[in-house]
Amino acid sequence: MAKDDAACPSCQSRDLNIEYELIDPTYHTARCRRCGFIAMHPYPSDRFLHDHYKSRELYNAGNEASSYDRAVADRSALLQGLLTRAGITDTTGRSIDFGAGVGIAVAAQKALGFDAAGIETNPSAQAVGREIFGVDIRDMDMKDMPNDLKLFTVFEVLEHIKFPGDFMAEVRGHMAPNGVVAGSVPNYDGMARYVRGKHSIALAWPEHVNQFTRKTLADTLKSAGYEVVYIGFPPPYGVVIKLGLREWLRKGVGEGPFLNVLIQVLTWVKKYIAYPLPNLIAEHTGLLGHGLVFVAINRNA
Ligand SMILES: [Zn+2]
Repeated sequence: MAKDDAACPSCQSRDLNIEYELIDPTYHTARCRRCGFIAMHPYPSDRFLHDHYKSRELYNAGNEASSYDRAVADRSALLQGLLTRAGITDTTGRSIDFGAGVGIAVAAQKALGFDAAGIETNPSAQAVGREIFGVDIRDMDMKDMPNDLKLFTVFEVLEHIKFPGDFMAEVRGHMAPNGVVAGSVPNYDGMARYVRGKHSIALAWPEHVNQFTRKTLADTLKSAGYEVVYIGFPPPYGVVIKLGLREWLRKGVGEGPFLNVLIQVLTWVKKYIAYPLPNLIAEHTGLLGHGLVFVAINRNA
């Protein structure tokens, strides 16, 4: 039976508490009183979302190939860290990155040793990915995915997909025993949502149809049959402090060696003094980090 777009996407209860009116006031952010899941209320229709994404530009396209090197290295390091948390040392076998864009995470999986492919509906992203990274990126139906995936990643995807629990359950049907799923979502409990409300990235309308806290993300993964290993805020998903000090210095001091020294000092202070405490608090409380990163295992295949 088709699910009700006006009910809680997770448990289909209609007992919802409205927390925000969104940019289009026919839509709200609502928290389910029964299971706690937070989502756009009502869900936009499939037709509406389809048309919206079709008209949207591909971001990140048109960059120089070399500018991706750092991004791929960072993503590899993040993935390696998540695999280590999950106790996975064998980085061979098939892997997929869903919502691959131009393929940064696909290239990262490949760099770790996986036989990696990407799923992406945007044809220009597929072409760019093939050209820059030489990786296989295509528009594939979920049911055509291999059934022996050792790794499946979804970075900034679950907030876009209606009924994310059902999606992750379907993915599980394609995972190898002890296969790992990993990814990220915006953190509903991030600082920006408290400050900017409906204008925050987390509440972006109409793209972000689901909202996640540490708890609701864990519930979503558990209900889909996974064992949750970790949900938290590893860099660069932790607390972000943007005071615009660099720009302010650039204007006040002017370009030159003195400015460079000041910026180096500032960077050091940020890295070793300003960030560690708020990030420690974020990691322990589940509050304030801007993105939630997760890793979970298909333990009982
Ligand atoms: Zn619910």
